[in-house]
Amino acid sequence: MVPVRPSAVELPERVPGPPMTAFSDGSGTGGTSYNLGMLQQRTIKSLTRAVGVGMHSGQRVELTLRPAAPDAGIMFRRIDLPVPVDIPVSAQAVCDTRMASTLSPGGDPGAPKVQTVEHLLSACAGLGIDNLVVDITAEELPILDGSAASFVFLLQSAGIALLDAPKRFMRIKRAVEVDEAKGAARKWARLDPFHGFKLSFEIDFKHPALDQTGQRFEFDMSSGRYKHDIARARTFGFTKDVELMRSRGLSRGGSMDNAIVVDDYKVLNTEGLRYDDEFVKHKILDAIGDMWVLGHPLLAAYSAFKSGHALNNKLLRAVLADQTNYEWITFDDETRAPAGFTALAPAW
Ligand SMILES: [Zn+2]
Repeated sequence: MVPVRPSAVELPERVPGPPMTAFSDGSGTGGTSYNLGMLQQRTIKSLTRAVGVGMHSGQRVELTLRPAAPDAGIMFRRIDLPVPVDIPVSAQAVCDTRMASTLSPGGDPGAPKVQTVEHLLSACAGLGIDNLVVDITAEELPILDGSAASFVFLLQSAGIALLDAPKRFMRIKRAVEVDEAKGAARKWARLDPFHGFKLSFEIDFKHPALDQTGQRFEFDMSSGRYKHDIARARTFGFTKDVELMRSRGLSRGGSMDNAIVVDDYKVLNTEGLRYDDEFVKHKILDAIGDMWVLGHPLLAAYSAFKSGHALNNKLLRAVLADQTNYEWITFDDETRAPAGFTALAPAW
């Protein structure tokens, strides 16, 4: 564990002067010499592999994580198909949000897919990985232990490499909010301008096992505690929903090895919970992954009430629908970047 820098003094909404420069598409790589002090993009040092089953499909899948070039972004590659199909991450690539975030090229529902990407993308966000190629041999990523911890371990085992290109951030310039339903059933998610990335999440389950745990949590990436406080939180499911989910072809690979399972009264896993408030922490883990379909970190404060994959994606699409909501920036001087973005890997 690297000592975490003292938390940044919050800067004014717009940092004046040259340290923080507006990014313009097309500028950048190809022989340009960058400021030595810039905040750099990241990938992994060597390839690494894992094997597991998809939570919803129950299918065995091999996963290979490969280093990628600067500005390549995060790309899933279906290598089980006769001709491999590349599926780059983007908000528009999200084509299905029932129970998990599913991507396809350009969001085309008829195209090859990659399902349940959010836990790997959350781990990428936690370690600041901008560029990665993810080979998979089936339609769904392995669920592993149901959290992001196994992906964090894989990425850290491969080693984190700094690249000679500035890290790009999407800076939110004004509040954007989306919601669903009305009255007591209303759910919402929003992004507000913030120099850093923090999340506030509230769930509202009327259930004896969940009522005992905290249903609200706030997490600031600048704390440097993603791996410790968030990554280990597992996905969860209710026994009463399992039959319905399986009839829809979901949760075929789900078990107490990769999920917290709750009946009408209590948690059934004999080992209990990893955190007292593991449920809401998993919702934060998911939201971090759902935001990372942008392929770049947000400079924003995310807050949500009962949000999920669908509403999280609707929020990103609402941001992207109006270019005055955001701007792309880089940090020529990494000391001007929010704490946490520089205190992450490689040694973390
Ligand atoms: Zn999840």
